Amino acid sequence: MHSKAYIFRQQQLLVDDDFQLPQVEKLQHDLNLSEDGEIIARDLQDDKAVPEGYQLVPIRQLVQVWSRQQFEQASRAVQLLEWRRNHQFCSHCGHQTQQHVSQYAMVCPACGYNQYPRVNPCVITIISRGPDEILLAKNARNKTQMYSLIAGFVEVGETLEEAVRRETLEEVGLQVKNIQYLASQPWPFPSNLMMAFKAEYHAGDIQIQENELSDAQFFNFDQLPEIPFQGSIAHAMIMHVMNGTPVADDTKEWL
Ligand SMILES: [Zn+2]
Repeated sequence: MHSKAYIFRQQQLLVDDDFQLPQVEKLQHDLNLSEDGEIIARDLQDDKAVPEGYQLVPIRQLVQVWSRQQFEQASRAVQLLEWRRNHQFCSHCGHQTQQHVSQYAMVCPACGYNQYPRVNPCVITIISRGPDEILLAKNARNKTQMYSLIAGFVEVGETLEEAVRRETLEEVGLQVKNIQYLASQPWPFPSNLMMAFKAEYHAGDIQIQENELSDAQFFNFDQLPEIPFQGSIAHAMIMHVMNGTPVADDTKEWL
């Protein structure tokens, strides 16, 4: 039985010319990702060359060529590997940690403290105004012409709806109403859970937060700028509000 291997260098994954994972036998220092041990993941050390016939591709790009299931499995692998790399020492007493024998946990042999992988909740919101306009914003750090949706991390002690209201007010100075949950998507950059909401414009004039955004506008559906690629939840959310297509379900790919 051959194993599938997820071999990473930072946020890039080793695939062949057809974007398929290498089929290799169990490697040293592997990380089992399934009960039967058929899937392994590890880092490609910086001093190791990329094997003949393979390439390193940013995981973000693979969302466009892989099925949702393939992408989510790779997301899980990169997040667990990253998490393990960042928890080599106990955050309570500083002693070197060990891998738990059966759980995804790093255990401290000195004080017994267990560290578990975490996800960071993020809200992403599509704001509509009237029947045919949506708000899109251009990230200040993004050098492309792509416009996307308002998104940000949930703060401690905040509900998801409060995070939607706060992020919208902070980033574009607008108040929203009728906030509704749509769907969620794990997003491994580095370990986020994107939770998608739609909301309606309520009040205010656009005032962008200049260190975050370089522009924000309401766009008519027939005059949209460049939007996020297919496979991202933002793309599916825009299609949902424009066409009524579902954002995601258990059987469909991201639309
Ligand atoms: Zn400890």
